[in-house]
Amino acid sequence: MVRIRDLHKVFGQAHVLRGVDLDVERGEVVCVIGRSGSGKSTMLRCINALETPTIGSIEVDGERIGVAVRNGRLHELAPRRLAAQRRHIGMVFQHFNLFPTRTVAENVMEGQVVVARRAKAESRKRAIELLGEVGLADHVDKYPAQLSGGQQQRVAIARALAMDPKVMLFDEPTSALDPELVGDVLGVMRRLAGTGMTMIVVTHEMAFARDVADKVAFVDQGCIVEYGASAEVLGQPSHPRTREFLARVQ
Ligand code: ADP
Ligand code: MG
Repeated sequence: MVRIRDLHKVFGQAHVLRGVDLDVERGEVVCVIGRSGSGKSTMLRCINALETPTIGSIEVDGERIGVAVRNGRLHELAPRRLAAQRRHIGMVFQHFNLFPTRTVAENVMEGQVVVARRAKAESRKRAIELLGEVGLADHVDKYPAQLSGGQQQRVAIARALAMDPKVMLFDEPTSALDPELVGDVLGVMRRLAGTGMTMIVVTHEMAFARDVADKVAFVDQGCIVEYGASAEVLGQPSHPRTREFLARVQ
């Protein structure tokens, strides 16, 4: 479902991603771990075309992200084509990024109406259905500020799901939450994994990685230095830097 080859990203003087290769199969849950500043967010942002790779390629479901090959040359996609690609790549951020002046239901409707061009009534129906699935049936007409962080993050998940994503990217979705709110969000993600959704999750929640992830990727200084079955990477890491990292977080 996701194939990354020799991905490099340079910001000015900073060579942030240094040759990332990653394959994620359809229906797999991959947790990405690694210390702060190692390039995890940049990698997700490249998959979602929020950043353009300096070198390398990313394919989602066989389609090259961000560029098209014409007459043997690479061309950046027009904004409309880019939006069409991004629509199917759901992203959930650490800080929710909801529209504060729109209700919960309107937040989940927005992309459906504007990007997917669904009718309002149909979009609201789908929003209410998804909000029910994430445990927010009683909050659809509230504003984000009236909800807890954990509830807001579940709205953000419903909003991404409303676009019928092929893959869901999560960037530290529980890092900004009070500890007692983390469980509800992880519960929603765990159920989503059970539905067969392909998921790439940057997280420090090692129990989630151990229990839910099929595979774990350890990122260090812009490279994936270890990638394999979660039990192996977390239980018997082969790279000294993975061992060092896990000793500190577990
Ligand atoms: P992580 O998510 O693993 O903490 P990031 O991908 O956010 O790491 O950042 C990796 C490095 O890239 C950091 O040193 C960060 O400062 C740098 N970086 C990220 N985005 C930008 C940017 N837009 N411009 C310059 N440097 C950036
Ligand atoms: Mg990050």
